[in-house]
Amino acid sequence: MTRKPGGTGSDRGAGLRRLIRQQGPISVAQYMGESNALYYASRDPLGTAGDFVTAPEISQMFGELIGVWLADMWNRAGRPDAVIYAELGPGRGSLTRDALGVLRRLGVRPQVHLVEASPVLRANQHEAIPHAQFHGDVTGLPEDIPLLLVANEFFDALPVRQLVKTASGWRERMIGLRDDRFVYVAGDQPMASVFDAAEIAVAADAGHGTVVETCPGAAAILRELAGRLTRQGGAGLVIDYGHGDRRSGSTLQAVRAHRKLDPLAMPGEADLTCHVDFAALADVAQMAGAQCFGPVEQGAFLERMGLTERARALAQAAPDRIEDLHRAHRRLAHPEEMGTLFKVLGVAAPDWPAGAGFEGAG
Ligand code: SAH
Repeated sequence: MTRKPGGTGSDRGAGLRRLIRQQGPISVAQYMGESNALYYASRDPLGTAGDFVTAPEISQMFGELIGVWLADMWNRAGRPDAVIYAELGPGRGSLTRDALGVLRRLGVRPQVHLVEASPVLRANQHEAIPHAQFHGDVTGLPEDIPLLLVANEFFDALPVRQLVKTASGWRERMIGLRDDRFVYVAGDQPMASVFDAAEIAVAADAGHGTVVETCPGAAAILRELAGRLTRQGGAGLVIDYGHGDRRSGSTLQAVRAHRKLDPLAMPGEADLTCHVDFAALADVAQMAGAQCFGPVEQGAFLERMGLTERARALAQAAPDRIEDLHRAHRRLAHPEEMGTLFKVLGVAAPDWPAGAGFEGAG
């Protein structure tokens, strides 16, 4: 069998090839889920030496401003004594550390619970936050006290389901093999019944080849979290790249060593992500009883939370860092960088206050 270039010497695509060869095509969701499970379990993908750089790795200011938002919510909600800081997919723990630093300075003393599937990243997080408790899934989070939640670039890694319009109607988009290479194929079962009302509008006049995506895993996790906020109290921020309206088209992408590549080229060796559908997430959160704020663009949100002031204060304290801070500010907030592609969605218990930073957002 042909060995794909891998770097680790092991072909992570081998198991998927065997499965498809023996049992036929697998769904895009299964492909993405299995690839990412292998990918995250085997490495720390973050930072300049890794595959991609996230906002908390660009600057401490990102986590600090998230800490400010959470502390403000907690403060205006009556400063509950017992509270949990819970983060989903904390990567290296940088955001956790920076947000917790601010929370503590502002009088919040939360228990820290981290939801992380990867053993490699858990080890990094344990080093950064020794007193944190770990969970493999959000179901493990305590159920009795308010939650301060954060998820940065977590939902984009969850498997999406894709449907493709063919001459014989909507089909699940699948991955098959041609000459040992992974290729997209259309499933053989009609799929029109899986559309929800909002998606029908997008799907109705779609031409052949049109792809629509849904992320059942993201919706299910946010529904659970929103239900918990409603029962336990609390508030949270979901930050990711994505869109606030419904649209069609595949957004599946692969990144390795800071370059985009064909998502089918190296399963398990590249980070597979999709745009987050914030409209869908806001819908499920509201249906579960939570309030939603936004989504708003990351640049606007960070500016409203005081990004420029924070950068100035840090520059004053360390004038030799002015250029770095200027660069970090630009990368986090400029429209050509992360400023508009990344969005922030706020969620909160129905009896908690409205979130700062979302003024004017629908
Ligand atoms: N939030 C971090 C890391 C983003 S990378 C940052 O901004 O730097 C995605 C993170 O989500 C990683 O920590 C990864 O291991 C974790 N992750 C991905 N899929 C997961 C899943 N299904 N369950 C739990 N954690 C997951």
